[in-house]
Amino acid sequence: MEANVSKVDLVVRARAVVTGNSYGDIAVYEPGFIAIKDGKIIDVGDASTDYPYRGKEFHSFPNHVIFPGFINAHTHSPMVLFRGLADDLPLKEWLENHIWPLEGKLVNPEFVYEGSLIGIAEMALCGVTFFSDMYFAMEMVAEAARKVGIKAQIGEGILEFPTPTSPTVEHAFERTINLIEKFLNDDSIFPMVAPHAPYTTSEETLKRSLELSSKYGVPIHIHLAEEKWELEKFLNEKNRSSIKYLDDLGFFSNRNVIAAHVNWLDESDYEILAKNNVGVAHNPRSNMKLATGICPVPRLLDIGVSVGLGTDGASSNNRLSVLGEAQTASLLHKIANKEPTFVSAKQAFLMATLLGAKAVKMEHRIGSLEKGKDADFILVNFERPHLYPCFDYISHLIYAVKDSDIEYVYVNGKPVVFEGKLVNVDLKELKSISDKYIEKISKS
Ligand SMILES: [Zn+2]
Repeated sequence: MEANVSKVDLVVRARAVVTGNSYGDIAVYEPGFIAIKDGKIIDVGDASTDYPYRGKEFHSFPNHVIFPGFINAHTHSPMVLFRGLADDLPLKEWLENHIWPLEGKLVNPEFVYEGSLIGIAEMALCGVTFFSDMYFAMEMVAEAARKVGIKAQIGEGILEFPTPTSPTVEHAFERTINLIEKFLNDDSIFPMVAPHAPYTTSEETLKRSLELSSKYGVPIHIHLAEEKWELEKFLNEKNRSSIKYLDDLGFFSNRNVIAAHVNWLDESDYEILAKNNVGVAHNPRSNMKLATGICPVPRLLDIGVSVGLGTDGASSNNRLSVLGEAQTASLLHKIANKEPTFVSAKQAFLMATLLGAKAVKMEHRIGSLEKGKDADFILVNFERPHLYPCFDYISHLIYAVKDSDIEYVYVNGKPVVFEGKLVNVDLKELKSISDKYIEKISKS
């Protein structure tokens, strides 16, 4: 072997490699390669000339374009088992008359494992390599994520009233601490503190969440300003918005908060979010379906807020495709503002990748294909009639690619989806889970 050639575990060569980078630019290498060792990216670059790496394995994809894996910044993966139930209702009625009663009857650790296994399998097939999830019995979501082979950020939902797994708020905190201590040094499961929302938790619970977040150095994930009534309630009762209320509690002070939705803001809230590095998870399809509101994404991006994309649960979306969210976000903000330059293809792509990683406080590990980061990436087949002709890979990704064009997904340099099929999960297992819950739910 030549003296200047380094040995790595895997070299992947493709028609192109497209990634955002830490300078805020987009890099396109055509053809491109990625060199991987111990699950990390050793180098990424132009493959039209010789590159100084030789892999124990070599994967070549002349028809496929590599992008960073997508990041789902807000979801409740076990809720796939409620997919398609109680559509076309307002959020409050949907939750109080349908979802919460069903959860009370059905949700236990087995439900969480089985539901999240389907949800995570769906996400992997849509190119998601990392998701941030808030629900109950979250150690089961961790187990399902490990089985499928993608990364998860998990928080046990903390509410002031009894939940399927915690009769008291004290118990929810105990479960949270157990989860944090179990996964604090894990390489693919990342714990967080998850107080549900400012209107379902007390001041004391919010302060205690902050203390835990600071003590362990883990993020807080919270639903925030999803509906208009939340803003109105806080303005009426506390004479300030829910965002200002949290700010006054010092809730954002450790700069480690992920806020889902953020649709209803007071004028002073913009600065609070930007100043405190609050990550925003924008969930366009869930918000459109429940008609809860529109996150002011163009203005937030303008003032430097990291806005990522979330699918929310599959009972209010009803898909877990981050590409679908990116495509929707781009169209939604154009029509909502009658401004076709808003949320460009490039911005939507970055929201699905690097900005999403920033929003969930993981940009040191994921979100772009750069030296030292995790080798988490997807390959999209561009030799398809609906992608002809192609002048710009990112334009096609946001306006023309379908989820089914994502044929390979790698996490830590190992395939979890190969030739369009899950590597670690048998589809028959997912089908039998689905059959079981059709029966259970129709009887309940
Ligand atoms: Zn949610």
